[in-house]
Amino acid sequence: MAEVRNIRVNQDRLWDSLMEMAKIGATPKGGCARLALTDLDKQGRDLFVQWCKDAGCTISIDRMGNIFARRPGKNNDLPPVVTGSHLDTQPTGGKFDGVYGVLAGLEVIRTLNDHKFETEAPVEVSVWTNEEGSRFAPAMVASGVFAGVFTEDYGLSRADMDGKTIGEELKRIGYFGDQPVGGRKFKAFFEAHIEQGPILEAEAKTIGVVQGIQGIRWFEVTITGAESHAGTTPMNRRKDAMLGCARIVERVHQIALDHAPAVTTVGLVKVMPNSRNTIPGNVFFSVDLRHPFDDQLAVMTEELHAACAEICGALGLQYECKEIWHSPATHYDKDCVAAVRKAAEESGYAWRDITSGAGHDAGYISRVAPTGMVFVPCADGISHNEVEDAKPADLAAGCNVLLRAMLEHAA
Ligand SMILES: [Zn+2]
Repeated sequence: MAEVRNIRVNQDRLWDSLMEMAKIGATPKGGCARLALTDLDKQGRDLFVQWCKDAGCTISIDRMGNIFARRPGKNNDLPPVVTGSHLDTQPTGGKFDGVYGVLAGLEVIRTLNDHKFETEAPVEVSVWTNEEGSRFAPAMVASGVFAGVFTEDYGLSRADMDGKTIGEELKRIGYFGDQPVGGRKFKAFFEAHIEQGPILEAEAKTIGVVQGIQGIRWFEVTITGAESHAGTTPMNRRKDAMLGCARIVERVHQIALDHAPAVTTVGLVKVMPNSRNTIPGNVFFSVDLRHPFDDQLAVMTEELHAACAEICGALGLQYECKEIWHSPATHYDKDCVAAVRKAAEESGYAWRDITSGAGHDAGYISRVAPTGMVFVPCADGISHNEVEDAKPADLAAGCNVLLRAMLEHAA
């Protein structure tokens, strides 16, 4: 049997698989549009499942559509060492966000097969349903159900803009599995992911040893004013919901600047009736607040509520500001973080500790299993964009680190 430290993943095979998966939902600008539980998501899932079966894995699927591909170990009574991420993308997403973590897991299994390496514990690759939260809010809902953060009923009943639910769509594409969601023990969980930020590239580091994830709070704000004629309504008699929205957007931006390194975004706005010569009577918009520390995030939340009250009050508008999701700051397991750092060190890669700016399935899984993450650089730190790019050598490096960190727990 091969020595653990001599084993390396196959860079070309990993890259080819990424490019093959990227054909499903490929966009003209070189990205991917494979929204959760669409026909394209089904095609991506089917391809992954076929590849895993070809690699000798058994497949199980739970009632949230999470997929687990299992490579048996010598002792199958041991809980598995699990890796994975997601296959769904943003509407104008890239080829690597999520997909890399799934296919890096598959490459780990293929590499173990190449070397006929038998692990003590079983090894599994997971695909988590609807990570992006683009079609169905909230994001990471299925790993959240797995970790007991949400109930299964809540997860299955999340609906898209057309009213179609996760449960209905899972059944339609044949991924409503028979396994219960969660309640399983993992020996450890690792997720490999592109950084989705500019830090590693700027510092010429190949590996980010992820310490945790900043806290995230999502709000939905509805402002109600009064629709009236754009030409005949004097400025002092208007109840313009869009003006209230615009002023709150400005304030949301300021909240981030006042609480560095916070980040805040208003990314979704629906103006009603959305007509150029009618004063908007109703505006619905999202607010995304993030900070590495929960106490600061709480202060930011109070400032958002205060801004809504003050701005809408002054304009004579009614409003509702509802929190729809709160993901507290996550701190990963110290042994898993150490295993990633050691793997990077022993492989000879330049590395640094890093905190994730984005949410990840690993954040929820860390509530029920010892968890760590591996980051690799992406071009200009750009993600959630069709131009998202990463270097084959960096992706292979992250996969080598993933392999070693997993073997540290499974060998
Ligand atoms: Zn992702």
